[in-house]
Amino acid sequence: MTQDPYEILGVSRDADADEIKKAYRKLARQLHPDVNPDPETQERFKDVSRAYEVLSDPGKRAAYDRGGDAFSQGFGAGQGFSFTDIMDAFFGGGAPGAGQSRGPRSRARRGQDALIRLDVELAEAAFGVTRDLKVDTALRCEACEGEGTAPGTKPVACETCHGQGEVAVVQRSFLGEIRTLRPCAACRGYGSVIPDPCRECSGDGRVRSRRTLTVKIPAGVDHGTRVQLTGQGEVGPGGGPAGDLYVEIHVEPHPTFTRHGSDLHTTVSLPMTAAALGTKLTLPLLEADLPASADSDSETVTTYDLEVRPGTQSGSEQVIRGFGVPSLRGGRGDLVVSISVDTPTRLDPRQEELLRELAAIRGEESPDGQNQAPHKSMFGRLRDAFQG
Ligand SMILES: [Zn+2]
Ligand SMILES: [Zn+2]
Repeated sequence: MTQDPYEILGVSRDADADEIKKAYRKLARQLHPDVNPDPETQERFKDVSRAYEVLSDPGKRAAYDRGGDAFSQGFGAGQGFSFTDIMDAFFGGGAPGAGQSRGPRSRARRGQDALIRLDVELAEAAFGVTRDLKVDTALRCEACEGEGTAPGTKPVACETCHGQGEVAVVQRSFLGEIRTLRPCAACRGYGSVIPDPCRECSGDGRVRSRRTLTVKIPAGVDHGTRVQLTGQGEVGPGGGPAGDLYVEIHVEPHPTFTRHGSDLHTTVSLPMTAAALGTKLTLPLLEADLPASADSDSETVTTYDLEVRPGTQSGSEQVIRGFGVPSLRGGRGDLVVSISVDTPTRLDPRQEELLRELAAIRGEESPDGQNQAPHKSMFGRLRDAFQG
């Protein structure tokens, strides 16, 4: 059974909130215990609900993307959801008629979370980088200090609900009269109205603006990682607290290195003679992409002296421990170097003569084609070992 919430909901890792909600909604319809009460379906429904719980919450999703355990925190196993929870998830809470007296609601609400994308190079993702980001966002209106009222004025109590923010509605039903409280339409539940809204923000308490933010991207982030910046999202209406800003990392492909988790892979080509005789190579590391740092107290190593043993085969791999990508959890992956042996082309007469002579000495003038087991790289063998 997979523990990956993306897999459980059947969405891709870069699915947006809408796709996630749609996927959940579809599954919840099929699997809801009210529809399909058999135990196996209920288990799946719980898994689906838990996956949605993680992916619909940008904070939990970011924690999971960073490599956290999706279901470890704040969510007991097998809790299940009521149908009202599901309605709340789709319609933003407050199913009609659920009316309990709550009194006037505050104008101040938490601002929305925001998501922006940041393109970085492989070395920047691996070793961390500090960037200035321009963000379009909602900031607190300074003219009214977020209150939404014109200078020198105040909100006044709503006449319709007498400041209660809600009005009683009486309905007749076969159970008799049902009295429910509904948010007051005149003041939209606030209990007060702003007679003279602030001119700068039209009473919203915030204005749109572009600002520059210096963001520190930690070493070890990967493509699709979301870095959470608490309180850097949009300011809420009515002077409410700001939401969070999520910076989604997009890593540009590198010309020579590819990343597999915290390992780096690269291919080095060698002349046939060097592969046969053995040699020493100076291999540029990913660190070579880093800008030369001004503080010279920590010298960055940018090359690695790789020993190539005599008789090295094309397709063989050498693993250089600890020269991969630093992990967000500490430690560092490995650098896997694949050797590609170049067979010489366009031989001049002298070279051809020498090679023919070598072939004659080695008895290789007329080799017979022999079937062989497919060549397996070390990683292929490891993979096979793990898959049993
Ligand atoms: Zn204002
Ligand atoms: Zn009212």
